Amino acid sequence: MADASGNLIVVQHPLVGAKLAALRDRGTGTAEFRRNLQELSQLLLVEASRGWGTAARAVETPLAMTEGVTLAKRAMLVPILRAGLGMVDGMLHLLPDASMGHLGLYRDEKTLRPVSYYRRLPREIAEAEVLLLDPMLATGYSACEAVAVLKSHGARSIRFVCIVACPEGIAQLQRAHPDVPIVTATVDAGLNELGYIVPGLGDAGDRYFGT
Ligand code: URA
Repeated sequence: MADASGNLIVVQHPLVGAKLAALRDRGTGTAEFRRNLQELSQLLLVEASRGWGTAARAVETPLAMTEGVTLAKRAMLVPILRAGLGMVDGMLHLLPDASMGHLGLYRDEKTLRPVSYYRRLPREIAEAEVLLLDPMLATGYSACEAVAVLKSHGARSIRFVCIVACPEGIAQLQRAHPDVPIVTATVDAGLNELGYIVPGLGDAGDRYFGT
């Protein structure tokens, strides 16, 4: 399902719904949480990559020549540390050649705004199809800052992929970066006073890393 702008894609599929429910369940332990997050990320990747260009490629089957395709551009995965790391392994199963960047952001105690403390981005970022990964689109401040960092390094094709979004985060990201599509498994009701998405799934990083 896409919104009127086409820039918010909520992936509705029975497998997505079932894996999301497993992630939400407080009784789901670390191993099962990891497996479901990786599998769900793979499913979201199918939608997130839908618009990517392809180039024609001749293929010889055991019976005849035929036309196939290959991805026209290199794929690049950029997880926002730390929870975004939980989405990488599943996606790498489908994109084993993808290059990887990493972005670390912390929240400034005074301004409550994200500050970038670590960035390691591949040089070919301007030519790549970049997927920015964070399971939770909560206030949207980190996502906005991360997209700004990617653009300042030359990224031109960026999609933000998350598991759970909420209206506040979507509005913030779409306001700051209307050119960046958001792909998510769900849009939840909103944020509580601590900045957690409700109903959400809790702290994605803590649950994925077992902290
Ligand atoms: N980050 C999380 O891990 N969970 C939330 O609900 C919001 C931000």
